[in-house]
Amino acid sequence: MTTTERKLPEVYDIAVIGAGAAGMMAALRGVLNNDTVLLFGGTSKDKKKSRAQWVGKVDNIPGFSIYKKGILDPNKETLNFIKESEFSENLFHHPSTGVEDIIKEDGHFTIKASKEESFKAKYVILATGVMDVQPKIEGTINTIFPYANVQSVDYCIRCDGHHVKNKETAIIGNDGESAAWIAVLLHERYNPPHITVITDGHEPNYSDDLKKLLELYKIQVITKGLDGIRGDEKTGKLEGFYFCDGTFQPVDFAFISLGMLVYNELASKMKAATDERGFVTTSEKGESSIDGLYVAGDLRANTKKQIYTAWDTAVDAADDINTRLRREKRQALLSQN
Ligand SMILES: Cc1cc2nc3c(=O)[nH]c(=O)nc-3n(C[C@H](O)[C@H](O)[C@H](O)COP(=O)(O)OP(=O)(O)OC[C@H]3O[C@@H](n4cnc5c(N)ncnc54)[C@H](O)[C@@H]3O)c2cc1C
Repeated sequence: MTTTERKLPEVYDIAVIGAGAAGMMAALRGVLNNDTVLLFGGTSKDKKKSRAQWVGKVDNIPGFSIYKKGILDPNKETLNFIKESEFSENLFHHPSTGVEDIIKEDGHFTIKASKEESFKAKYVILATGVMDVQPKIEGTINTIFPYANVQSVDYCIRCDGHHVKNKETAIIGNDGESAAWIAVLLHERYNPPHITVITDGHEPNYSDDLKKLLELYKIQVITKGLDGIRGDEKTGKLEGFYFCDGTFQPVDFAFISLGMLVYNELASKMKAATDERGFVTTSEKGESSIDGLYVAGDLRANTKKQIYTAWDTAVDAADDINTRLRREKRQALLSQN
């Protein structure tokens, strides 16, 4: 899989930027479609701030609970499969390279990567993902990390909501309604013994119906502001949260609902259209407002932010690109004959 000892294409068919759930699937589909694929995994800084790095055990995909790292482990297997396959020559993998800029010129994309390297590709699939906003406790986001993704603190209801069954539960949110609606959903679906909504210290402005539901479901709202965590940092076992007035709330399992940081810098530099939250808007096949620039995975607007949707959007993008590549070759052949 190294790029040494191989004649490098002057212009690659597809450049896939990001090697998380979407990027790996885009690369696999592209390689199996017999297209040449450049795959960038990102610098260590890019990796650290990607969801791929943080996903542990995955319960909501059949067969996946065997992996300790539900994205990184199967991705490694996939790279090995490609390496051993008769399609290995199609993949040009740069595992630790980040992309800093993309310029569209003369009908192709020039990709400016870290290490001052530059590559050309006919099409680009951008799969740089998003990251969940972390709560600041004791002045830093680091306080939550020993408990995150070890079945104590999680971010995704569809992935981990089922863990609240029989647990003292909390939702950490801000002064909007989202955290309270998550609490309502978890109560209706799993009826845990107790649910608390913890705001960022501000009084929330809930609708009358939501207020009534919280009261009926006995969901407590604490607005005193988080001041600390009690638990075992080594095992990640959570015991509860301290508040600014010195009080303590026992909690076994907490969800964070503070929004997402959308990694749309490359798309924005190219002036690709985004929605009001910063997700890149695309056609049904995943093409952005820039001709030939596709988006897959969490970065794409109007998708479930899940591994299997990342895969689906990646397949749509790689297949659409293959259709266009074949059409270009077919038309060139027909015009010559
Ligand atoms: C704690 C947690 C648990 C989750 N559990 C589940 C689950 O159980 N089931 C489920 O279906 N979903 C789960 N998800 C959601 C899932 O992780 C995402 O939907 C999925 O990772 C999205 O894939 P992606 O490829 O879009 O982004 P990511 O997987 O985040 O990958 C982004 C990639 O882009 C790279 N990158 C970023 N910037 C650059 C750059 N400039 N140049 C090159 N590369 C770059 C990064 O290094 C990384 O490789 C979970 C999410 C979290 C946070």
